[in-house]
Amino acid sequence: MKIYVNQIPFEGVTFEEGMPASELDLETEIIKFREPIKIKADVSRITNAVSAHIKINTVLYTICSRCLEQIKIDLNKEIDLNYPVDKSVQVIDLNPDIREEILLDYPIKPLCNPNCEGLCPKCGNKLSEGGCTCGST
Ligand SMILES: [Zn+2]
Ligand SMILES: [Zn+2]
Repeated sequence: MKIYVNQIPFEGVTFEEGMPASELDLETEIIKFREPIKIKADVSRITNAVSAHIKINTVLYTICSRCLEQIKIDLNKEIDLNYPVDKSVQVIDLNPDIREEILLDYPIKPLCNPNCEGLCPKCGNKLSEGGCTCGST
């Protein structure tokens, strides 16, 4: 999301955008997105600064770190960003800061549920749902 400083009225303005995850380079080996990331920015300006209150809404698709089942995680976040500006600044690119905030919320060990017991080391089936068929549990 880019903000053109001279398009911000003194009473402020709201921008909304659906940004593809690829545009922010957010996908990893295990974190995927299926829909654009919703960004809503309330932007206001004083003489030498622009401030933006930003709401980020998206859904991450990843896998349980214990049983490898696919899971989705809602990511909803509100942040405040401030940018000093002088007459030479015409455009502010919010993307690097938005990207950073989303990355901060990536789960380190995502779980399909907090009680997930993972997979049976012998038969490879899920332990928590009685899926183990080898009887070793
Ligand atoms: Zn699991
Ligand atoms: Zn088993």
